[in-house]
Amino acid sequence: MAIDIQKIRSDFPILERKIYNKPLVYFDNAATTQKPQCVVNTIVNNYYNCNANIHRGVHFLSQQSTEAHENARKTVQNFIGAKNSNEIIFTRGTTEAINLVAHSFGISQCNDGDEIIVTQMEHHSNIVPWQLLQQIKDIKLRVIPFDEKGVLQIDQLEKLINKKTKLIAVTHVSNALGTVNPIEKIIKIAHSQDIPVLVDGAQSAPHTPINVQDLDVDFYAFSGHKVYGPTGIGVLYGKEKWLEKIPPYQGGGEMIQNVSFEKTTFNELPFKFEAGTPDYIGSTALAAALNYVSEIGMQNIADYEHELLRYATDKLTQIDGLRIIGESPQKSGLISFLVGQIHPYDMGTILDKLGIAVRTGHHCAEPVMKAFNIDGTIRASFAIYNTKEEIDILASGIERAAKMFRK
Ligand code: PMP
Repeated sequence: MAIDIQKIRSDFPILERKIYNKPLVYFDNAATTQKPQCVVNTIVNNYYNCNANIHRGVHFLSQQSTEAHENARKTVQNFIGAKNSNEIIFTRGTTEAINLVAHSFGISQCNDGDEIIVTQMEHHSNIVPWQLLQQIKDIKLRVIPFDEKGVLQIDQLEKLINKKTKLIAVTHVSNALGTVNPIEKIIKIAHSQDIPVLVDGAQSAPHTPINVQDLDVDFYAFSGHKVYGPTGIGVLYGKEKWLEKIPPYQGGGEMIQNVSFEKTTFNELPFKFEAGTPDYIGSTALAAALNYVSEIGMQNIADYEHELLRYATDKLTQIDGLRIIGESPQKSGLISFLVGQIHPYDMGTILDKLGIAVRTGHHCAEPVMKAFNIDGTIRASFAIYNTKEEIDILASGIERAAKMFRK
């Protein structure tokens, strides 16, 4: 199916904006995507017509609101191909989802001396939660390195695994390099030794079809705001057998069955992991976003963004002095780069004045920057509403900035 890009663009009101009197060219999609009208409408409509706290309310609005929230859970279940809707936990985002696993899995399944394997290209949100666990348990982090192109050295994995390995926690797609990691292979290797795998899907769920049952992944986390949904809502998928086994992450309302000062019993899945009033407006708006992308088709989105990546790589490599950081043959739609000796911040500032939004810095992946011996990069990341014409604007903007610095 060919994508009707003009129709898609018209669904995103913000793309009409002018920045410094120039048309907005938004290439900061790996940080957060813009929202289609249907997502904004869902939020407004819910607050105007259907707002009431969910679960246990006897009145009409509460029941309607509860139904919308639980239907949203089913939409997420279908979107990632989970077996049961009780395996879908709503969180604030990928970060909270990983913190949940690090805490609940960590305190219940890890003993002193155990090891967790991560990769050298993790976002800080898949490093720091494990270091927080180290304050409670004497665990060790082992790291799968990547090579000079940013490809994970998967042959190292089997050497890192031993009897003390309790979990492998890997990013599906690197937000700093664009590398797509072979998670199918990692999961197979891990499972052959009975080790569960957590996949950080923050940069994959928005860009490629995901089926957690086909992958046989144990935990999969993603953020709503990167997949055209609202901020403040995300998802942790966990296999039922693991979610049953591990204790709650936070305590409060909703997650209990009975409470007394002597003893509390916990609610069933998924509520055991959803303490307090959930973001039921966010969940329904996330469902609207997932329905929106599903209608376009995740494979169509993946194909289109790959075409953008190919085009942009070709264009940008023609620029004198431009160096791409992250040249894995398997890449998602983002390009990290440097131009000569120009500081990323300076390049980003000039591009901004041309209406082009890119991200500069370490992208919350300082170990990646360290490996390349750089402070940061400029990152252009693509979404379904971007066009080749916008990539041309980016390329000529970079040329213009480079010329200014050469003078
Ligand atoms: N992991 C990766 C790979 C990411 O790119 C990000 C966001 N930049 C996160 C985790 C954290 O996501 P969030 O801030 O939405 O929790």
